[in-house]
Amino acid sequence: MALKSGAQYLEEMKAMRPNVYKYGKLIEDVTTDPATKGTLMNTAAWYDMSLDPEKQDLYTTISYLSGERAHRWTTVMATADDVIGDAKMKRDGYRVCGSCMGPVCAGWGIMNALWGVTYDMDAEYGTDYHERLKKFAAMAEEKALAMCGAITDAKGNRKVKAGMQPNPNVFLHVDETREDGIVVSGFKIQICGTAAAQWIMAMPTQGFKEGEEKFAVAFATPKDAEGITIVETTRPSDNKVEAGNWDAPVSGTTQAFILFDKVFVPKEYVFMNGETKYSGRPIGNFSSIYRSAIGACVAGQGDVMIGAAIAMARANGLQQKAFQDKLTDMAIRNETTYGLGIGAIAMGRQHKSGAFYPNAILAHTNKYLVGTLPTETKRLAQEIAGGICETGCMPSYEDMTSPIYGKELIAAMEAGVSGEDRYKMARLVEWLTVGAGIPGCMHGGGSPDTAKAVVKAMTKWEDYVDYAKSLAGTEADFKEEPPVKK
Ligand SMILES: Cc1cc2nc3c(=O)[nH]c(=O)nc-3n(C[C@H](O)[C@H](O)[C@H](O)COP(=O)(O)OP(=O)(O)OC[C@H]3O[C@@H](n4cnc5c(N)ncnc54)[C@H](O)[C@@H]3O)c2cc1C
Repeated sequence: MALKSGAQYLEEMKAMRPNVYKYGKLIEDVTTDPATKGTLMNTAAWYDMSLDPEKQDLYTTISYLSGERAHRWTTVMATADDVIGDAKMKRDGYRVCGSCMGPVCAGWGIMNALWGVTYDMDAEYGTDYHERLKKFAAMAEEKALAMCGAITDAKGNRKVKAGMQPNPNVFLHVDETREDGIVVSGFKIQICGTAAAQWIMAMPTQGFKEGEEKFAVAFATPKDAEGITIVETTRPSDNKVEAGNWDAPVSGTTQAFILFDKVFVPKEYVFMNGETKYSGRPIGNFSSIYRSAIGACVAGQGDVMIGAAIAMARANGLQQKAFQDKLTDMAIRNETTYGLGIGAIAMGRQHKSGAFYPNAILAHTNKYLVGTLPTETKRLAQEIAGGICETGCMPSYEDMTSPIYGKELIAAMEAGVSGEDRYKMARLVEWLTVGAGIPGCMHGGGSPDTAKAVVKAMTKWEDYVDYAKSLAGTEADFKEEPPVKK
């Protein structure tokens, strides 16, 4: 198959075993339930854009493995151009959906992160993880899979080691290794787009030490495998994702808590099992890919914020030039994270396995900026758009359409455009700046502090002192003296 349409994807989703819950009830059909429909429709749109001749080069590529055209999110990224393609696609995807898209992002990232790690493990241990991953990747491409990526463990008390936590499930772990596979249990949380995914890719959230072998595990599993329960997280506008309701765009993604309870994973889908020495490497590879591309995601969302802010100004009867300085600031923020991400990719390297990994220090610097710059973009969008865009400042759709007073409410919203259109645009600004359109900026892809820690660790501070010393022509070596004990 390799390429499929949105309709085919939705049909396949309907056929999966229902195991997604929300508000205490099982969702029988994720394609129609208002709680999940938005994220499913977005994912279907990405499949459809792959078949659109005008968008095809953004959403598909020629596969490194098969030489055939395939959805980007099922392929191995082997060159800088492949990863730049990832960034360009995500900026466009954000412009269309306004939100982060886990099922066509994080699982793909894990597959690529593991590409180099499995190759290295096989070279050292004589295992066959890389061959298994290759076969899996060929299948993912052929079946055009949507895969979410489960990295973040519940983690429990951050000061306590994985093996010492009172509840062992706060880190995903192997209960049993059998001839034919492994049995795993544990909680992965905040997993983006799980409801819209067909498979789950899982890998360690951090490195583990000797004695912690059971936590060093990576695998792929169908999302509806026995023992997997998914609980969707909530957001303010969930139940508004109904055709015709103006309170939320039919868009956005959701996260999920994934509960693994003695889930059997066949050997062919196990890509790490106990190799603690290599357990920290997938997160290194993953974050270099993810943190370079996320600059494009937030830039795409920022593009929509600029558009919505201009539209609101015009709806209010004002000229764009009254806000041009602020709008240009917003654009500069977008281009900064986008450009730094592209720079990280351009300065990357190809691993001997064939996978391409962006430059780590630039990718982590970008993640730090992604956690900070868009906040100001959101603030500016609200400032330009006016008070009705701040949350809690407009009546609901039901009130706006009330037969008793709806007409007056619409009249109260009328300005440069109809009251209905001004209301819809104001809701979009609210959604983008304080609602479900936000995901990704702060903790998506890891916290800004962890990114900062990598920049600190990788920066060659002493070399910089040497440059300064040489230019100043000094005698002293300016080495740091140990602190004097008092
Ligand atoms: C929108 C969104 C989408 C996401 N999608 C996914 C996904 O698809 N897949 C996935 O696996 N995960 C996903 N995540 C989870 C994300 O990767 C985590 O939120 C992130 O890694 C931070 O982990 P945490 O939330 O457990 O934060 P915490 O560990 O609770 O950290 C909170 C703060 O404390 C700091 N901190 C933590 N431990 C220490 C320490 N020991 N010392 C000092 N400071 C510390 C952190 O730096 C951070 O600033 C998503 C998150 C969001 C918000």
